Amino acid sequence: MKIHEYQAKEVLRRFGVVTPRGVPCFAAEEAVAAAQSLGGSVWVVKAQIHAGGRGKGGGVKVAKSLDEVKQFASQIMGMQLITHQTGPEGQKVRRLLIEEGADIRKEYYVAALTDRATQKVVMMASSEGGMDIEEVAHNTPEKIIKVFIDPLVGMTDAQAKALAVGIGVPEASQAQAMDTFRKLYICYMETDASLAEINPLILEGNGNIKALDAKFNFDSNALYRHEDIVAFRDLDEEDAAEIEASKFDLSYVSLDGNIGCLVNGAGLAMATMDVIKLYGAEPANFLDVGGGATTEKVTEAFKIMLRNPKVRGILVNIFGGIMRCDTIATGVVAAAREVHLTVPLVVRMKGTNEDLGKQILAESGLPIISADSMADAAQKIVAAVAGH
Ligand code: ADP
Ligand code: MG
Repeated sequence: MKIHEYQAKEVLRRFGVVTPRGVPCFAAEEAVAAAQSLGGSVWVVKAQIHAGGRGKGGGVKVAKSLDEVKQFASQIMGMQLITHQTGPEGQKVRRLLIEEGADIRKEYYVAALTDRATQKVVMMASSEGGMDIEEVAHNTPEKIIKVFIDPLVGMTDAQAKALAVGIGVPEASQAQAMDTFRKLYICYMETDASLAEINPLILEGNGNIKALDAKFNFDSNALYRHEDIVAFRDLDEEDAAEIEASKFDLSYVSLDGNIGCLVNGAGLAMATMDVIKLYGAEPANFLDVGGGATTEKVTEAFKIMLRNPKVRGILVNIFGGIMRCDTIATGVVAAAREVHLTVPLVVRMKGTNEDLGKQILAESGLPIISADSMADAAQKIVAAVAGH
């Protein structure tokens, strides 16, 4: 789960990380009063969407007067903000953060994330803050410093120092930077985050260290123990199909292709997407109906897949273990009838009650294409979509 920048800063502040003062706004008209309440003479008007790269896309503007605050707030609120992370259609801005302007001497990058290769938390920092870290990693990987944290020991002083020195924090500000790194690590651990990123972390003219932008990803499997974080959820920022799927306990992820996939088991779902790609097509979604799929669940899954206008065909790939093939077949037939299926449907099922399942499909009178192996199923759906 992702949250907005102003919420991320609230989380960081709870752990003692210093951020600029700011006020979130839900209407452009609130911006001037927010700026007045902050005081000072320079403010930053920041679009709040669940994507980075807002600065480059015109979603972060420095205002030097209250008139400018008003002008930028009305420009940014409601705009369709396009950044390299939103995709070409962009994301509509519904919230703003009005923040005090910071006196930036230097921008750094720091993040805590899970490193699968070492199975540890890695703290990553760079002197090249403010910009796209992927670009830095690609062009100048030597400018990224990493330390791997032993979970039993936590971040050591030596590690915090290695990061601060490694990215060139001036000596007088190193203690503050180290303190920020330690707090970021603790925050990452205690909130069950999978990413906690500060970009930029700044050195101010007066030598202070502050988090100027923040981004979190939280492990959704751990959200049950973080009510305060769940309260930050903004459904406007999430994929409508994914929200709908979560209500029925379906693991669904929207993708860009045109072949809908309905599979039981995450591993089989991944393999199914691979085999579709192998035969030259692209999956429209990842969908795992899980082990206990009922007819109702399968019907909902069909509805969610078909709500995507790009879907030109559906591939059902089921391994009947505990789940019996005849149950799935009954569900598929009922779902196909209920949604008045008009796109080609290929079904491949293996395992418990396979013959009974196939019989149900054949006797349904629906134009369901049966397949035997995964390769056969993928080839059939790719051909059917191409010819449809
Ligand atoms: P994004 O990463 O989505 O582009 P940021 O919050 O990092 O958004 O803002 C982009 C840039 O805008 C920052 O790198 C910084 O240079 C500038 N900026 C952001 N907030 C402030 C602020 N409060 N004061 C001064 N400059 C800011
Ligand atoms: Mg940023």
